[in-house]
Amino acid sequence: MAREVNQVWNYLNELSHRSIRERQKWLSAYDLQKYTAGYTKCEGVKIGTTTVQQVCEEYATRRRQFKKARLNWRVSNPKSSKYSLGWIPFKKGGAAYRDGQIRFAGLKLGLWDSYGLSKYELRAGSISQDARGRWYLNVAVEVEVSPSAGTASVGIDLGLKECAVVSDGQRIEGRFYRKLEADLGIAQRACKKERVKAIHAKIKNQRKDMLHKFSTQLVAGNAAIFVGNVSSAKLIKTRMAKSTLDAGWSMLKTMLEYKGHQAGIVFEEVNESYSTQTCSQCGSIEGPKGLKGLGVREWTCSCGAVHGRDTNAAKNILAKGLNRLEKAFSIAGEAKAVEAVVNKSPQGFGRGHSPLVAGIPVL
Ligand SMILES: [Zn+2]
Repeated sequence: MAREVNQVWNYLNELSHRSIRERQKWLSAYDLQKYTAGYTKCEGVKIGTTTVQQVCEEYATRRRQFKKARLNWRVSNPKSSKYSLGWIPFKKGGAAYRDGQIRFAGLKLGLWDSYGLSKYELRAGSISQDARGRWYLNVAVEVEVSPSAGTASVGIDLGLKECAVVSDGQRIEGRFYRKLEADLGIAQRACKKERVKAIHAKIKNQRKDMLHKFSTQLVAGNAAIFVGNVSSAKLIKTRMAKSTLDAGWSMLKTMLEYKGHQAGIVFEEVNESYSTQTCSQCGSIEGPKGLKGLGVREWTCSCGAVHGRDTNAAKNILAKGLNRLEKAFSIAGEAKAVEAVVNKSPQGFGRGHSPLVAGIPVL
C-alpha cells in the first residue's frame, strides 16, 4: 500500500509541476483531488479514497512549506539509498479499532497497543515506517481533559550533568543510557549498520519513554510548573553534543506544555540567570559561577545554608516563577478594582468608557 501512496504522490508531483511550468497554475489540494478521484477504482488498488485525499492535502501543504514547484520523488524500492520510508495517511473514519486490531482498508492489522486504544475514538492519522523497517500507527484521538488535582508548585533546572532537577529533589538523568552508548561504539567500529540503527532507535525510545513518565507525574502532582530558559552560555561550557541535550530539553518542555495545558495548570519558562549563584534561603549571590564553578556540586552560603547546586537553582527558578505569577495576579486584582470604581462612580471617566480589561489570565 505504501507503494500506491508513492504512486499517487509521484503522479501529483508530475501533474502539479507540469501545470506550473506550462500554465503557471498552482493546483490546490482540491484541484489535485479531482485528478486522482478515479485512482482507487483501478484494479488491484487497496488504498481508499480518504487516503488519496489526504495525500493530496499533504502534497499541497509540503509544496507550500518548502516553497518549491516540485518536491522529491518518493522511492518505493527498499534497496535504493533514496528509499522513502513507508507512509500511509488516512482521514477520520479511515481506521477503526476492534478486538485488539486495527481495521484499515479492508485489512486487519494486529498491533502492540501500549495506550489502550479501545478507550478512544480514532481520528486522522497515518501508518508509517521507521528506519528499522518497523511499522507504527500514529493517530490523533479524542481525549477528555482531566484537570490536575495537584496543588504544589515546582521549579525545574535543566542541567548538563542531569537532564533535569526539580526543586522538590527529584531528578532524571539524561545519560542513563551509557551502556547503550558503549554498545553503539562497538557496533560503529564493526560497521554494523543495522545494529547502529537499532541502538539509536532504542536510545531515542528510552529517552522519550522516560520523559513521558516524568512529565505526566509532574503535571499530575502540581498546579504550577516553572522551567528555566536554558542559556546558550551553559551549552558552551560542555563537551556534550548540543543536539543531544537540546533534544531532551525541548522534548521535556513540549511535553510539560501540552500536558499542562490539558490539565489546566500553569506552565511557564522563567529567566534562569543567577539561579545557580543565588542562595535560595537568603538571596545573597555567592554561589559557584563561571567555568571555574562548574565542578562545584555543593556549596555553603554565608547564612549557613548548605545547597546542592542544581536543587538550589531549581528552587530559585520556582521562586522567580511564583513571584511573576503573584505580580500578574495583583495587577489583575488592581485592574478589577479600577473597573469596579469606574462602573460605580456616576461621573466615572465620562460616558462611553468601556470597562478596563486586565489582559492577564486569571485562574
Ligand atoms: Zn544564604
